[in-house]
Amino acid sequence: MDDLFTKAKAMEFPRRIIAGHASLEAIPGMCREFQLDGPALVVTGTTTRVVAGQLVADMLVDAAYDVDVIEVGPASEEAVTEVKARVKEYEPEFLVGVGGGSKIDVAKLAAFQTGCPFVSVPTSAAHDGIASPRASIKSSETADNMSFTASVPMGVVADTSILIRSPWRQLAAGCADVISNVTAVMDWELAHRLKHEEYSTSAATLSKMVANVIIENASHIKPTIEESAWIMIKPVLVSGVSMSIAGTSRPASGSEHMFSHALDRIAPDSALHGEQCGVGAILMMALHGGDWERIRDALRTIGCPTSAKGLNVTKDQLIEALTTAHTIRDRYTILGESGLTEKAAERVATMTKVI
Ligand SMILES: [Zn+2]
Repeated sequence: MDDLFTKAKAMEFPRRIIAGHASLEAIPGMCREFQLDGPALVVTGTTTRVVAGQLVADMLVDAAYDVDVIEVGPASEEAVTEVKARVKEYEPEFLVGVGGGSKIDVAKLAAFQTGCPFVSVPTSAAHDGIASPRASIKSSETADNMSFTASVPMGVVADTSILIRSPWRQLAAGCADVISNVTAVMDWELAHRLKHEEYSTSAATLSKMVANVIIENASHIKPTIEESAWIMIKPVLVSGVSMSIAGTSRPASGSEHMFSHALDRIAPDSALHGEQCGVGAILMMALHGGDWERIRDALRTIGCPTSAKGLNVTKDQLIEALTTAHTIRDRYTILGESGLTEKAAERVATMTKVI
């Protein structure tokens, strides 16, 4: 007799994603539709409060919501604790995170840990975690960035007129993070073939598709043109959705992400996550024997770094990241189980002109 069928899976998605010009205005109506009647706690930063946080708070007040605003610093455990303390004091029905990746991550984790529903309002999009169920927070003990389980936002409102005013470097990094899905999926396929790792065709197809949308539209993604934010934001959000379908970050995180995390250890804060993953994708694609020039050209066209110099790291730091990337996590990739030798790392980095 055949083995009994035992597969089962739960997928969590945002209930509504609104993206486009002046979509901020839709926030109060969306909250009412979710039957969230307040009070609301807006979690934002000092700069992002000026950009959009206060506007969102005012719009909620105009729609007869009771609103409190908390400004937080970088994504740290302390910031999450501060928000949780305010939640205890103010007892909001829901949280609205307004800001770049770090404010969203703080609000997302605080919402999860206090059991409050959460609405996400990104003012920039430097990585593809906006609609994902995970939050990247700096540990207070080790100062390492750690990935915490959080909840998927109930609603996401990405206003392109706000996004395009964020530093171009951040939006470009968000594009690079999505482009790096190409090598993440190749690694996943490899792990599926060699290690029989569970694989989702739907998640992989979606993830590759959004990476290709960015690569093919690279020449239309330009600073100050609002349509650029429009072209990039949907792939950024859908990349997160592919992770929800897979139930793992596999479709959007492979060896190129391990390389990026290795760089975080060796040369902290030298470059943005997405920028490092983009350069990682050039290198890993070369190791896969694929068309790494296509990746490099797309990154270059968008204005992302394509070299060690562009990432503000030395040749030695880059080689160290390449030879240690396999130790970052127990995830089978093109780096194999024992990683690259120094000679192999130097060869691939030289060939791709990364060093
Ligand atoms: Zn990423």
